[in-house]
Amino acid sequence: MIKLIRGFRDILPGDVELWQDIEAKARVLLENFGFREIRLPIMESTDLFSRGIGTDTDIVEKEMYSFPDSKGRGQTLRPEATASVVRAYIEHGFAGSDPVQKFYTIGPMFRHERPQKGRYRQFYQINAEMYGVASPLADVQIMYMLHLFFTGLSVPDVVTHVNSLGCPECRPKFRDALTAFVSDKTDRLCSDCQRRAKTNPLRVIDCKVPGCKEAVEGAPSIQDHLCQDCREHFEAVIKGLDNLSVPYEINPRLVRGLDYYTRTTFEVQTSLLGAQNAVAGGGRYDGLVKILEGKDTPAIGFAIGFDRLAALLGAEEKDFTVPPPLFVAALGAEAQKIAFDWLCAFNAKGLRAEMDYEGKSLKSQMKQANRFRVGHVLILGETELQNNKAVLRNMDTKEQVEVALDGLVDQVIALINQG
Ligand code: ATP
Ligand code: MG
Repeated sequence: MIKLIRGFRDILPGDVELWQDIEAKARVLLENFGFREIRLPIMESTDLFSRGIGTDTDIVEKEMYSFPDSKGRGQTLRPEATASVVRAYIEHGFAGSDPVQKFYTIGPMFRHERPQKGRYRQFYQINAEMYGVASPLADVQIMYMLHLFFTGLSVPDVVTHVNSLGCPECRPKFRDALTAFVSDKTDRLCSDCQRRAKTNPLRVIDCKVPGCKEAVEGAPSIQDHLCQDCREHFEAVIKGLDNLSVPYEINPRLVRGLDYYTRTTFEVQTSLLGAQNAVAGGGRYDGLVKILEGKDTPAIGFAIGFDRLAALLGAEEKDFTVPPPLFVAALGAEAQKIAFDWLCAFNAKGLRAEMDYEGKSLKSQMKQANRFRVGHVLILGETELQNNKAVLRNMDTKEQVEVALDGLVDQVIALINQG
């Protein structure tokens, strides 16, 4: 038997309804905030990610699904969406019409990581990206929107961790201080961090390995190294979050795995997901549009981890199937023919209805209706047919009403919609 590839999974009916509900709410909120949907391919040139995300990151070093096309050109299943959105922003000349643009996109990402709970090789993200606004108001609006999204879904126990990563002016000084700090602790670091200590020391303070966490206790804090402009930007962000009553925690240890972040970075965390505690992450990436050969344009965005969010919201309930409101039960060939026409008419008019296609006994049809957990059963047997009436049975109250065959479909829809 052919099975799923490791790290990949199916989202089945019963679960998918929860996903649909989350997605519908995300779309409404994002569009209320002025974000427009952009749909992008899941495969791009490898260069887009190696240049955009940075070669010293976990993603580019070891997590990408890359393979050559028939001419040997590198292509990659997207590990994240930001670089692709930036590419589209530049490629379609959005900056020319109005540099301020807000986009969102929802879809699968691919990373070759070790699969575990909350960590898959194909996973889904809801991304929002905003271009052309350098003001801290953009940072505040984005974090406020994210906060509304999680509270609107009643996600339990979430806190937004915020930090600033500084800018090309102040970050190198912090990096030097950090390099000096870790240089005599390399023997206590994991093998990845021993390498990172030289190439990308910020990543060492982000490492989840307990030994590394201990080794970097007392490391210099970026908060002590911000330049005047970055400090003012950060303070304005914090003030804005206070004004809108967004709960946050300043976390000087929060750095993000991707190189392109500048200034504000944030991560929404929950204690309910165990080790995979981040449900969303994002930040400002003022340098990225230029890195990818567009005009120098400030930008900020985030990605929500859809799989982890669905796991959080689905932890208690197991089945999100919505029962159909109606089952049509018919007995005898003549009745079944009529019932099928009704079924098609109900479906066409937007009422979800089911029936038995096989001519089973009434008893087994009623069993089937119960399995569907329908609200009503419409019964058409030989007697009913003779009387020109069908019976509509409310499965909760067990009440039955007769409905004339003439004009039945609209009549039944009206009765069901009445409750
Ligand atoms: P982590 O530290 O958990 O690896 P990350 O920093 O790699 O996260 P981002 O690139 O910021 O994650 O992606 C944003 C969100 O996407 C994360 O907060 C997480 O919820 C989700 N996510 C990232 N990688 C995976 C994965 N392999 N499987 C499921 N969800 C993921
Ligand atoms: Mg990761």
